[in-house]
Amino acid sequence: MVKQISSISELQEVLSHAPALGFVPTMGALHAGHLSLVERAKSENARVLVSIFVNPLQFGAGEDLDAYPRPLEQDIALLQSAGADYLFTPMAADMYPEGFKTTVSVAELDNQLCGMARRGHFDGVCTVVAKLFNLVHPERAYFGEKDWQQLTIIRRMAADLALRPQIIAVPTLREVDGLAMSSRNRYLSEQQRAIAPALYQTLQTCAQAIRSGEQVIETLRTGERHLLQKGFEKIDYLQLCDGETLLPLSAFQKGARLFAAAHLGRARLIDNIALEE
Ligand code: AMP
Repeated sequence: MVKQISSISELQEVLSHAPALGFVPTMGALHAGHLSLVERAKSENARVLVSIFVNPLQFGAGEDLDAYPRPLEQDIALLQSAGADYLFTPMAADMYPEGFKTTVSVAELDNQLCGMARRGHFDGVCTVVAKLFNLVHPERAYFGEKDWQQLTIIRRMAADLALRPQIIAVPTLREVDGLAMSSRNRYLSEQQRAIAPALYQTLQTCAQAIRSGEQVIETLRTGERHLLQKGFEKIDYLQLCDGETLLPLSAFQKGARLFAAAHLGRARLIDNIALEE
């Protein structure tokens, strides 16, 4: 039975008896991608704690905070069958009580990619993840490679602040047609869902072209045009970047990754792949 814990005091009481924990922070609306993190955590830890918290700090004005799906009953059933031990569902008022003034911010890494279109987003992510790490005190924490920039920033934060957990990266889980699983895929109409795999396909096509010696900037421009032709309404970025510094690259080098973010209807979809096979 997954044990749901909704208050910080109960969490502390439960954890005072718990063995070393693997921790999977999420915003809920769980899918098989999230469950692959839970599975990995289960294989490496005596107990697994999952959190579901739609963190208001990481949503900008006009973003989908209110609309974000919150199917808690369904999530509990999924966690039950995945074998999670604890589910922490804190209230925003407990995480950010009156007088809360602290922001955790990782410089530079948040100026790139999603940081440009979503100012302040990663400060919100770092602040909540740092607080959750302090509350849960896990031995290991699991993050998806789908959100590569987030993973990179969290790694930096954990190293810089000597936070306890080891940060473990888990590969992106995809639908059979290649679309990266995401809670936001629920926003897609049937027609948009048919267009969405073009994001991953375009990343692959661009990667193939760059590997075979095509000029990077030209390749990415062609990729952007292709996405717009397919039906994406707006491209936030299609970029080749270093996987660690996240700085843009204009030529292939070791550790390079291709990153994309594009709008399709109400959904803003992101994806990334390594350039090396
Ligand atoms: P979210 O609920 O979107 O905040 O995601 C919670 C965690 O699950 C993050 O570490 C994500 O990177 C990870 N995640 C989301 N989608 C996927 C996926 N398709 N494959 C692997 N991990 C994922």
